[in-house]
Amino acid sequence: MKDKVILSGLTQKEIENITDTLGASKFRARQIHNWIYLKSVSSIDEMTDLSVKFREQLKEAAVISDTKIHTKQTSSDGTIKYLLEFPDGEKVETVLMRFDNRANLTACVSSQIGCAVNCSFCATGKRGFIRNLTYKEIVEQVLTIQRDTGLKVTNVVFMGQGEPLLNLDNVLKAMDIFNEDFQIGQRRLTVSTSGIIPGINKLANLDMQSTLAISLHAPNHNTRLQLMRIENKYNMENLHSALKNYIEKTGRRITIEYLLIKDLNDTLESAKELVHYLADLKCNINLIPYNPTEKNDYEKPSRNSVMRFKSILEQSGKKVTVRLERGADIDAACGQLRGKVSD
Ligand code: SAH
Ligand code: SF4
Repeated sequence: MKDKVILSGLTQKEIENITDTLGASKFRARQIHNWIYLKSVSSIDEMTDLSVKFREQLKEAAVISDTKIHTKQTSSDGTIKYLLEFPDGEKVETVLMRFDNRANLTACVSSQIGCAVNCSFCATGKRGFIRNLTYKEIVEQVLTIQRDTGLKVTNVVFMGQGEPLLNLDNVLKAMDIFNEDFQIGQRRLTVSTSGIIPGINKLANLDMQSTLAISLHAPNHNTRLQLMRIENKYNMENLHSALKNYIEKTGRRITIEYLLIKDLNDTLESAKELVHYLADLKCNINLIPYNPTEKNDYEKPSRNSVMRFKSILEQSGKKVTVRLERGADIDAACGQLRGKVSD
């Protein structure tokens, strides 16, 4: 397997280079491309519209993937969490969420192994930063899901482990492949960030239809600092300007993610302060009731405080959703991904 080319993550053009060396036509490349991205086969032998002879040649030169499913857990709500293992032994988690409407299959992908941002409420950050994922490793997460389930992923959210805007080149290249090769519309791709301003500014200058989600989580500097050390570097005031600029340049509405933690940022005052901060930003708000991860004192907000918070924001004219908790029984919910086999 050592010197063989890995087909996952290759563009049409790159596959053509392989078929060229094998003396086959561009049409063969097109067929292989479809088998990889749209039909997601696990072996070259399953590429049944290629001759047996050509399949043998291809098997000499290439393999589909070098990534293994280390573990797979299925939640009672249908959410599936995969722990994938790359050739260097590093592991990363990917989650597949099915919503009621079965046509919608969302992959929650990781962009890094570990995370340097180290927010106080998040299990991923506790490991520190290990390394960036390559764009192929990001793409591989969705391919693994498709190969394993036999289903086609329709939406991708960068809400797994890692800070996507600190690995922007690989994330952008992966988004290109999701769009071009998987044929997933840009509007069905969402990048979530803890508020890395230079990355937001870069995205503002790209002509993309994808959604930017901001993990805000607090209504003011001091509360945010308590939760997210990144507030020291990129504070809410500067973030506000960057978001205004992003919205102006792209014409797109952003999503504000707000983690609700009991008595810390779920109060009436917090809601009012948040309304003020968001007043001139074109955004939808996604409230995320805190999911307990061990090693901190935060608690889940009560249902009442979530509803009160929601209605105050709604009164200000914003569209607000409360994120459904998915896969909490298998630690696949937001912030519970840590990329470890067990601990
Ligand atoms: N690093 C990026 C993307 C990954 S985190 C970011 O922070 O935006 C994806 C989402 O899960 C973020 O909104 C994050 O704040 C949230 N999250 C982290 N820990 C959580 C927890 N314990 N409970 C609920 N949501 C959490
Ligand atoms: Fe990193 Fe996001 Fe977790 Fe913060 S919430 S530590 S940015 S993955």
